[in-house]
This record gives sequence, C-alpha cells and structure tokens, in this order.
Amino acid sequence: MFETLSDRLSTVFTSLRGKGRLSQSDIDATAREIRVSLLEADVALPVVKAFVGAVKERASAVEVSQALNPAQQIIKIVNEELVKILGGETRRLVFAKNPPTVIMLAGLQGAGKTTLAGKLARWLREQGHTPLLVACDLQRPNAVTQLQVVGEQAGVSVFAPEPGNGVGDPVGVARAGIAEARGKHFDIVIVDTAGRLGVDTEMMAQAAAIRDATSPDEVLFVLDAMVGQDAVTTAEAFRDGVGFTGVVLTKLDGDARGGAALSVRHVTGAPIMFASTGEKLNEFDIFHPDRMASRILG
Ligand code: GDP
Repeated sequence: MFETLSDRLSTVFTSLRGKGRLSQSDIDATAREIRVSLLEADVALPVVKAFVGAVKERASAVEVSQALNPAQQIIKIVNEELVKILGGETRRLVFAKNPPTVIMLAGLQGAGKTTLAGKLARWLREQGHTPLLVACDLQRPNAVTQLQVVGEQAGVSVFAPEPGNGVGDPVGVARAGIAEARGKHFDIVIVDTAGRLGVDTEMMAQAAAIRDATSPDEVLFVLDAMVGQDAVTTAEAFRDGVGFTGVVLTKLDGDARGGAALSVRHVTGAPIMFASTGEKLNEFDIFHPDRMASRILG
C-alpha cells in the first residue's frame, strides 16, 4: 500500500539527514520535492497545494529544537499534515436512536459495494448487531445473487426482491427491506445500490430516490482507491447527486500511489470511515488517519 509515495518521501527525508540547520532554500527545495512526490502519487492538485503550503509555512516557522534535528522536524510536520489531510480523527458510524440504523452504499459499478456490504455486515455482527442486507442493485446481472453469497459468508440475512416483492423496482425493494427489518427486529439495514461504469444521471437519480425512501443514517460512498485522482470527479458527482456522510476506500491493497486516499477527504469534506484491503470478508477495518500516515512514512 502506497509504496511509491513512501519510497519517494523517504528519499526526500534522507537528503535532509546530517543537516544542522535548515536554510530557507533547504526548506524550499524540500517543499518542491514533497510536491513532486505527491503529484507522482496522483494526489489532486488543490490538495497538493494546500499540503505543501502548510508544510512550508510550518517548517519556516519552526524553532531550533534541542530534541529534534531538522530532518526529524520535517518528518514530524509532514506526519501531522498527512493525518490532517486524511481527516484527523477517526469517524465512527452513527447509530439511529430508534433502530434500525439505515446504512446506504453508493458508488460506481465495480467499486466494491457488494463486497463491502458483506464485510460491513460481518463486522457489525461480530459486534453484536443483527444486520439485514437489502439487495437494491437490480442493474448488474448477478448482483443480487452475489449479495446472497456474501450474506451467507458473513452469517447475516439478505432481503432480496421476489415476485410481488419489488422485482425491477429498487426503491420498492428498499422500502420493503426496511419494513422487514422493523418487523423482524434487525437493528441495522445495509442497502446495496446499483452503480454504473461511469457517472450517469439515471444512476444518480435512482440512488437519490432510494435515499429519499429510506432516510439513511449514513450514506457511504464506496471508492476504488486504485482510480487515483479520477476519484475526485466521481466523488464530487456523488456528493452533488446523492450526498454522503462518509467514504469507504476499497482495493487499498493494490494502491501503490495513494492519490485517491489523500485527495478525497480534502475535496469532499467527508471523512474516510473504513478501508477495504482485499477480496476476503475479513480484509476490512475502520480507517485511522494517524495509522495511515505512519504507514506512509514507514
Ligand atoms: P460493486 O459493483 O460495487 O458491487 O463491486 P463488487 O463488490 O462486485 O467488487 C468488484 C470486484 O472488486 C470484485 O471482484 C471484488 O472481489 C473486488 N474487490 C472488492 N473490494 C476489494 C478490495 O478491497 N481489494 C481487492 N483486491 N479487490 C476487491
């Protein structure tokens, strides 16, 4: 994960080792190097500018310290700015006062929504919840069956459309799923929705209609981290078309650069809440900005 960025930054820091004091030109050169590292990692330009600006300003203002040498001081600043750009604090799920808590998943086709539905359900079940998965992706062939398979692996129930039960009508299925959860005392409903390969007005309208029908407590935008800074355009389209309360980064296991991960929070203002790091249901965790920053810095 993020190997390219880690290697690049580590080279920048190595070049500062042994320096007794940093001149303004050292700081400028370091800022330039960090800028190039972030651009190579496919981080969105406004994010790069904000990040490098903050590092430069803080590095210039730093007092000569007994405890830290200049290289350590820069690493400390970069670490703190990385934590900030990744969202600062860990943001946890908000549960409804009156169950069921409704969590809706939105994102492009292939982003990993259905897999995530299983991961999230398993994780919640392990914490003593009784989630119900609701299959509202009626677009992609096999999406319903796939959800039933992950539901079984996760050991949770799946509500799928059946004749007379909303076939072909994702909004109807969503409504019926919530009624089922109420009636059978499931405390969490996870609504899987349809995506398309690209941003599409019909898909957005459908997701917005499901949102309106279910009044979700959380809308999680599921984002394939491997798409780099294209993520920014997609995230903005979902923010404007559906709106979301949090982001889930998927496929971090295959993301050597980190551009999407480092851009999405700053661009959308929404916190990254979970990270998916593989196809298996247990390859999933809460997203911790501080741990991710430490990982990037090696
Ligand atoms: P959806 O169309 O958004 O529902 O996407 P899927 O859940 O069907 O996932 C698309 C593909 O990505 C599947 O082959 C998944 O196994 C795979 N996938 C999902 N999450 C991850 C992940 O975190 N890492 C990797 N390597 N593959 C993933």
